[in-house]
Amino acid sequence: MVDGIPTLEDLGDVSGKRVLVRTDFNVPLNRHDDGTVEIADDFRIRAALPTIEWLVDHGASVVCASHLGRPKGEPNPEYSLDPVRARLGELAPGVELLENLRFDPGETSNSDEFTATLIDGIDLYVNDAFGASHRAHASIVGPPAHLPSAMGRLLEREVEVLLGLRNRPKRPFVAVLGGAKISDKLGVVEALLDVVDSLVIGGAMCFTFFAAQGKAIGDSLFEPDQVDTCRRILDASGDKIHLPEDLVGLDANGNFATWGTQLPDGAKGFDIGPGTAAAFTDVIMDARMVFWNGPMGMFEDDRFAAGTRTVAQAMADTKAFTVVGGGDSAAALAQFKLDDEVDHVSTGGGASLELLENGDLPGLAALRTAPNT
Ligand code: ADP
Ligand code: MG
Repeated sequence: MVDGIPTLEDLGDVSGKRVLVRTDFNVPLNRHDDGTVEIADDFRIRAALPTIEWLVDHGASVVCASHLGRPKGEPNPEYSLDPVRARLGELAPGVELLENLRFDPGETSNSDEFTATLIDGIDLYVNDAFGASHRAHASIVGPPAHLPSAMGRLLEREVEVLLGLRNRPKRPFVAVLGGAKISDKLGVVEALLDVVDSLVIGGAMCFTFFAAQGKAIGDSLFEPDQVDTCRRILDASGDKIHLPEDLVGLDANGNFATWGTQLPDGAKGFDIGPGTAAAFTDVIMDARMVFWNGPMGMFEDDRFAAGTRTVAQAMADTKAFTVVGGGDSAAALAQFKLDDEVDHVSTGGGASLELLENGDLPGLAALRTAPNT
């Protein structure tokens, strides 16, 4: 058990049992003009192997189940798991894989009928799909209501690391937040302020905070309906929050420019400036634990990648325990070839934020009340 959640060892004797493993095989695909589809990166399939191999080595037969993309509750050959099944067959011969769970509307609506079809002929359930565990979908919360259940190795590591951050922080504990979708992340900002010593804010997220401070933000990305929330957060915890002191972007004529924190009319801020990147580096270097979610700028464009690159390098260089969550943050880290230099890269963006925010996820709660607990 880890935090009240059963692990593979808590399943008892699995020999001769048929085990349903909820995996996250939502892999990136290359679609070719001739209609063929190829897996762009099989990382998520390989990541599930420790759990699958443990079960197979202990005599179980394994049936994997996953979603892929958003096929809207009906079969759609574009989102077939056939290419994944072929790759899985090479990596783990004899392991079965069901068709895309989201071909059935009962998956997202969490219907009892769909759960019943999933567990038909199944003895045990294992959840190894961290990236889907913040959703109360049938394949996540259905089977553990009926079958002895456990989390797989990937999920176990995520829970250990992320709940460890939240519940047993080493101080100074620093959160670095950026990215574009501020309304999705403000909840976690408020929750994190209770546990972190410093909150470093970059990316497009900073402009809604600047707007709350009455600063001129030009035409930068911001969310007007979140300004009041940002003001409330600043009033309550302003001393913990580090905002940029300089910015980089495009002026009204589309020319590359650097400013302080007041932007001229028509300017768009696309990255933190060099002074900010150095200040954020200092905070990260002095920390004992760092959680980073969301790029510091529009790093996909080389002109605006420097802030994200500098923060990524600080994550690699600091002696702190470092955790990165978020699809684009992980992609940035990989682009800079620094993904091996941090302690943990979470496989779930939304799930990692929600676990930090609430200390729990629907998928974990379901495992905690499974019949074998
Ligand atoms: P994650 O996937 O790591 O959680 P988000 O999805 O919230 O991160 O945000 C990532 C996106 O934010 C990137 O595509 C990046 O280009 C964009 N972004 C970051 N800073 C800015 C900015 N100042 N202006 C516009 N877009 C930005
Ligand atoms: Mg993203």
